[in-house]
Amino acid sequence: MNKGIIKYPNPILRKKSEELKEITPGIKELVFDMIETMEKNEGVGLAASQIGVLKRIIICQTEKGPETFINPKIIKKSREKTFEEEGCLSIPGIRLKIKRAKEIEVEVLGEDGKEVVIKADGLLARILQHEIDHLDGILFIDRINFWQRWKIKNKLKEKEA
Ligand code: ZN
Repeated sequence: MNKGIIKYPNPILRKKSEELKEITPGIKELVFDMIETMEKNEGVGLAASQIGVLKRIIICQTEKGPETFINPKIIKKSREKTFEEEGCLSIPGIRLKIKRAKEIEVEVLGEDGKEVVIKADGLLARILQHEIDHLDGILFIDRINFWQRWKIKNKLKEKEA
């Protein structure tokens, strides 16, 4: 089912999400809801917290379609960074250039309950870093410099009002 997306400045977006112990049928249903919600809103990634569920689950759009990452933890980041524009379904109408690691290694919980390490680069690495931030209550507007912040301050104020 397509769920409503929680928008900035809702305090839920600032909460830390909890790790999952196992992948239950209920979690699979939640993932289906997340995929439907992401696709309806034409997003490229979604964290469970954005539909109000404080669990460490994210989905990302990949070349192979939507992929799910449970308990994702970045264990390695390349020193090389890229600086590209991003948007966020929870803060519509704002696009910002954000500096992120070009390549990352992420540990995730696999279907069989064992941890696996995946490597990502390019757009997927960027989406993963953005969505993993959501699990820690971090938004992309926290990762900009003073001048970028000054440029969007009126837009954010409108949302906060
Ligand atoms: Zn976002």
